[in-house]
Amino acid sequence: MLSIREFMELFPDEQACRNFLFPIRWPRGFICTKCGESKYSVISTRNLYECANCKTQTSSTSGTVMHRTKLPLSYWLFTFYWVGSGQYCSARMLANTLDLNYRTALKLLHSVRYAMFKAEFNGMFAFWQPDNPEAPSILKKAKLRQLQKADSFIRGNYRRVSDRLRYRYHYEYRFRSINSHNPSTAVQKLITSGFTTIYTINEYRNMK
Ligand SMILES: [Zn+2]
Repeated sequence: MLSIREFMELFPDEQACRNFLFPIRWPRGFICTKCGESKYSVISTRNLYECANCKTQTSSTSGTVMHRTKLPLSYWLFTFYWVGSGQYCSARMLANTLDLNYRTALKLLHSVRYAMFKAEFNGMFAFWQPDNPEAPSILKKAKLRQLQKADSFIRGNYRRVSDRLRYRYHYEYRFRSINSHNPSTAVQKLITSGFTTIYTINEYRNMK
């Protein structure tokens, strides 16, 4: 397992970050999401990839929580690896380490937590939903146990969590408990979490 410092040495500049993201975004090479074309050109002044056929432009961050970010990508990767390595990371610590103001660090951490939620979303552990009365009791018990652990994680680490966003903290607990032994996989999951169907809590409810 690399230390955070060793991990960040892989990313001396923003281009190194983009080179890292590219094969995660397009594991089998570039594909245009609009027309399926695989040929593309790079618009290096804007860090975009343009489809050779339909001219649709895309970036290595589209569909991820990093999309349209004003922060350096290395800050995101740094935060991904930090939370992915299972260590506690507060907005204050992040602000100090990256020399950001507190609000920016808080926003960054909120986005990363949203990625954790999307990465580990699983209907069986949809904590905010009432139990299905027909679910086997072993499942209900497992869900309750998870919920209790997640609540105690929240109590241990956060002073105040809004009810509206509590589910994300539940999923932060879940993400950490599943991935903390393997930060590289955690980073990949946080990057790719937006590529699949985006489940916001409201979208999910509307689907029901
Ligand atoms: Zn295209």
